[in-house]
Amino acid sequence: MYVKPFANIDEAHITLQDRRLNLSNVFVIDSDYKPLNPVHPARARLLLTQGNAAVYRRYPFTIVLKRVVDQPEVQPLRLKLDPGSKTTGIALVNDTNGKVVFAAELEHRGHAIKDSLDSRRGVRRRRRNRKTRYRKPRFQNRRRKKGWLPPSLESRLANILTWVARLCRSAPITALSQELVKFDLQLMENPDITGVEYQQGTLQGYEVREYVLEKWKRTCAYCGKQDVPLQIEHIHPRANGGTHRISNLTLACEPCNIAKGTQDIAVFLAKKPDVLKRILAQVKKPLKDASAVNATRFALLERLKAFGLPVECGSGGLTKYNRTTRGLAKTHWLDATCVGKSTPSAISHKGVVPLLLTANGHGRRQMCVPDKYGFPEKHKQRRKTFLGYRTGDMVKAITSKGTFEGRIAIRHRPSFRLGKVDIHPKYMHCIHRADGYEYTQKGVRNAPPHV
Ligand SMILES: [Zn+2]
Repeated sequence: MYVKPFANIDEAHITLQDRRLNLSNVFVIDSDYKPLNPVHPARARLLLTQGNAAVYRRYPFTIVLKRVVDQPEVQPLRLKLDPGSKTTGIALVNDTNGKVVFAAELEHRGHAIKDSLDSRRGVRRRRRNRKTRYRKPRFQNRRRKKGWLPPSLESRLANILTWVARLCRSAPITALSQELVKFDLQLMENPDITGVEYQQGTLQGYEVREYVLEKWKRTCAYCGKQDVPLQIEHIHPRANGGTHRISNLTLACEPCNIAKGTQDIAVFLAKKPDVLKRILAQVKKPLKDASAVNATRFALLERLKAFGLPVECGSGGLTKYNRTTRGLAKTHWLDATCVGKSTPSAISHKGVVPLLLTANGHGRRQMCVPDKYGFPEKHKQRRKTFLGYRTGDMVKAITSKGTFEGRIAIRHRPSFRLGKVDIHPKYMHCIHRADGYEYTQKGVRNAPPHV
């Protein structure tokens, strides 16, 4: 049987097509696997064509020098993370000159994990209910370990840590930054900001805005509208001596805010006693409500500390403040760039296109696939590979119908799925072995223009 060789390191060039992909920077390691300064694609192309380097990894593009650099002069980089529930922004920033060296957006698969666990649980419950023999109750003899997180959240953390480890191996990273909390509670204990500063302006204003948005769930307190521009509203009006304290602030849409004017809340809501009651109850809720603390992010911080690098923490309010004052658009990777107090005063991200990483997992262990009623339908092949390929390999296929590139799903016959087409493996060559992620880097995902 013909088996394609598993080639880890191969001689290759950055082709014309890669140039169109807008590679931002190329990672370089020496033959001792020491990370060196990332270089411009043109420089990498020269190193490759002159035979001084070889391609080490396709995603993210990493080349390996064919010599050892004894005492490399590396410029330290900071790896910045903006963890989100669906997407995490990743950015590598040079703190001294404010250059973004690399950016990525990591798509998690928490929902896929939850869905498949739910369906497995459903199938199992139905199966066990079909035979109602007596089973000893076992629900109390299982104890969760301290720091246990649900599998969907655990996978999110694992995704992030995988990429921190991978990037630490290919770039000279000396510090980490992570967005830890949505708003800085300490900054808001004694707000002494006035007037317009709530709308735009100081860092404290941003923290307060983020907090009020979170506390009132981005909804107009008076009419319950969502997804409309909301304004910070003083419950006890400023004109009548109301303070700027957090406990006096809520959210209102523009019509409601104008309608209320300088009336007292009791007068304004005289005809809606239930709304009044709800608002007054919400106001009394303490500053430290559950939404301010995110268990996953704190767990991530603990695990990041294990890398032995200094970890800087920032708040969501600070990120937003940094992003707005530096005139950047709202994307996950630019948010990551703006995390923390270390953010340089000027950010240059010219030509940086984020690499889109989609977590796809490493396949299932399930050997028997049930139908929707839980009855065994088909059995999986024991081998995960066929003709040297496995599901998840990133390949390039040149056929008479054109050139295709992407992640394949194999079948146990010579016709693999690549995107929306079926292709015979003889036309394929592997550019990146399956490692649990799908990679996309397209010009269309280019950074939006400055706002
Ligand atoms: Zn309203």
